[in-house]
Amino acid sequence: MDDLASRLADVDARITDAARAAGRDPSGLTRIVVTKFHDASIVEELYRLGVRDVGENRQQELTQKAEAIGPLDGLRWHFIGQAQTNKARAIRSAASVVHSVDRDRLADALDAAGDDGATDLDVLLQVNLTADPGRGGVQPGGLAALAEHVAGCRTLRVRGVMGVAPLDEDPAAAFERLRVCSERLRGIVPDATWISAGMTADFAEAIAAGATHLRIGSAITGPRPPRG
Ligand SMILES: *Cc1c(COP(=O)(O)O)cnc(C)c1O
Repeated sequence: MDDLASRLADVDARITDAARAAGRDPSGLTRIVVTKFHDASIVEELYRLGVRDVGENRQQELTQKAEAIGPLDGLRWHFIGQAQTNKARAIRSAASVVHSVDRDRLADALDAAGDDGATDLDVLLQVNLTADPGRGGVQPGGLAALAEHVAGCRTLRVRGVMGVAPLDEDPAAAFERLRVCSERLRGIVPDATWISAGMTADFAEAIAAGATHLRIGSAITGPRPPRG
């Protein structure tokens, strides 16, 4: 096996172990491979290895890679980064899922970009798990109002919550707060059951806290090359 294949297999085995340890069925987890900084060709290699969910955190890179590769049957692009409102149309035309909706205006822009009859866009509401209000995500106290707003957007489908654990805290504690946010969201949108959490350093803790969508980059792709 080449390096990419063996790293992918290793991570998948660790995901299975973490799920079993948490008493969860591994088949209920979606592993998204974050390909940011890497060439579009890594997505094609991953696709050949069976990967169908890939993630990007910048609109330009998402658009370039999606265009370079062209449509591949069943491949889903997940947008996981901070989004500017004026990039909403470009994001929507490339991504199947947007994990980082954190304000009404962004939701409105993504919604307006679907007015040409596109299929509904799956979105997650990003919650800021840090104490720094400048970081991406809605404050937990603002989640309910955001959820009410996004639930009213005609072409968006609210699927759940997304969070990034702070660097200076035990990830298990942060993911527990996200789990509470998920419950609160389900009080408003009952079928919004997705929890997008867990990266290379903390996916086992995220699985223990109920994550359904893992966003794993460097453990699978190898170290990221410098951004060109
Ligand atoms: C880069 C990134 C990841 C993946 O990070 P790794 O530590 O390489 O697994 C996950 N989520 C977001 C939002 C990212 O930007």
